[in-house]
Amino acid sequence: MDCIFCKIANKEIPAEIVYEDDDVTAFLDINPTAKGHTLVIPKQHSKDLPETGDRTLGLILPAVKKIAAAVMKATGAAGFNLGCNTGEAAGQVVFHLHLHIIPRYRDDGLVPWGHHAMEKKTREEIAAEIKKYL
Ligand code: 5GP
Ligand code: ZN
Repeated sequence: MDCIFCKIANKEIPAEIVYEDDDVTAFLDINPTAKGHTLVIPKQHSKDLPETGDRTLGLILPAVKKIAAAVMKATGAAGFNLGCNTGEAAGQVVFHLHLHIIPRYRDDGLVPWGHHAMEKKTREEIAAEIKKYL
């Protein structure tokens, strides 16, 4: 399989790896949104979050917590955004599950999401629709 993140995890291509254990690798994003932007991946390939097994998902978040704390200390960031683009429509470009740790600095001007007002009735209808599938 021609997967760039598998190749990074297998050390077939270089990256600034900041952490790895038996299950997880973390490395700097090649085109960072902010200083210290780090990607955390499971070593086992899966294309996105919905296709990833619960065991693997259970390993990723504790690693993210540990790595994000180190990123914050190393960069002096005041916070971080955790991102997981899922599907082309959401901006996913690399189809190997990865979580973005994006350090945030005071007044850095990044605006990750927009917000829009929505009628309560519309929110209730959407919530009811989602609940049908859970
Ligand atoms: P996505 O848009 O799929 O959520 O994010 C993919 C991320 O991977 C992008 O932020 C991009 O800069 C990063 N990326 C793509 N190719 C490479 C690479 O070869 N090495 C590293 N370190 N990061 C990469
Ligand atoms: Zn892969």
